[in-house]
Amino acid sequence: VFDVLVVGAGPAGSASAIYAARKGIATGILAERFGGQVLDTVAIENFISVQHTEGAKLASALEAHTREYGVDIMKGFKAEKIVPPAQPGGLFEVQVAGGGALQAKSLVLSPGARWRQMNVPGEAEYRNKGVAYCPHCDGPLFKGKRVAVIGGGNSGVEAAIDLAGIVSHVTLIEFDSQLRADAVLQAKLRSLPNAEIIVSARSTEVHGDGEKVVGLSYEDRTNGEIKRLELEGIFVQIGLVPNTEWLKGTVALTPRGEIEIDARGETSVSGIFAAGDATTVPYKQIIIAAGEGAKAALSAFDYLIRQPQA
Ligand code: FAD
Repeated sequence: VFDVLVVGAGPAGSASAIYAARKGIATGILAERFGGQVLDTVAIENFISVQHTEGAKLASALEAHTREYGVDIMKGFKAEKIVPPAQPGGLFEVQVAGGGALQAKSLVLSPGARWRQMNVPGEAEYRNKGVAYCPHCDGPLFKGKRVAVIGGGNSGVEAAIDLAGIVSHVTLIEFDSQLRADAVLQAKLRSLPNAEIIVSARSTEVHGDGEKVVGLSYEDRTNGEIKRLELEGIFVQIGLVPNTEWLKGTVALTPRGEIEIDARGETSVSGIFAAGDATTVPYKQIIIAAGEGAKAALSAFDYLIRQPQA
């Protein structure tokens, strides 16, 4: 039986496991992939105090640091259901795909999220070679270059405003005939001299030269014509989907599927905490996920020391 069982081993889960284990309590961490989205990243330049690292390197550093504290690491396992205790203060059960279950006095959920993709030819091939998903992370790599942002919701328009300050020109591409972002953001974007908005446009292909992105084709949905933009970067901003489908009915989720947490990282269920990209925390970043994971573990410890003796 674990005192704290962490589900998910990205930056949030690793930080949680380390903080819990440093309290000398029985800690386990269960994950499909140790490192999470960090494994899909090439250059990381905003994890404060680390000027430059790479995804694979940071992921193995997270694992090595977690291992140092004797955390029980279970890799390659997918949690598919949580059974809450029959009585308050009892044990949680986490059921694992393919059979088997783990028991714990408290849980930290950090299953992360995934970026929704355009699913057009060239997108996967040129991921991290011009196709990007995070303006805070990769914006500076496109300094002085031409980029497109796909998606006219709040995150797309925010990204276009943000990038306009760094790149030479930004084109916002929206599928619908109008943007869905807040009016104030739309007005801000329209006021920028190096930003252009194209609506009723369906992205059809990412073009590259074998090494990096050189263009983007889209269909003008008003007449079916295919047009091409010459550019070096494409930021896809059509949604970040939390990996929380398996938690429906267990903890409260927002309509977008984010786990609702309070200021201490506690979910709607006493004894279940959550951290990172899967939650309502604003701004999905490695340093934020790690901080949130530390916070959730300290809250779990606080919860445990307040449980009456069995
Ligand atoms: P994740 O990293 O998503 O980890 C989730 C963990 O949960 C994984 O271990 C996964 O296997 C596991 N998991 C999920 N579901 C289950 C389940 N049911 N059962 C068991 N395990 C499960 N941020 C930056 O700060 N700087 C950057 O430069 C940067 N670049 C990025 C580049 C790319 C291409 C991407 C995709 C993201 C980038 N980010 C960057 C964002 C950053 O990676 C995330 O904010 C961060 O990884 C979130 O951490 P997390 O621990 O919440 O979740």
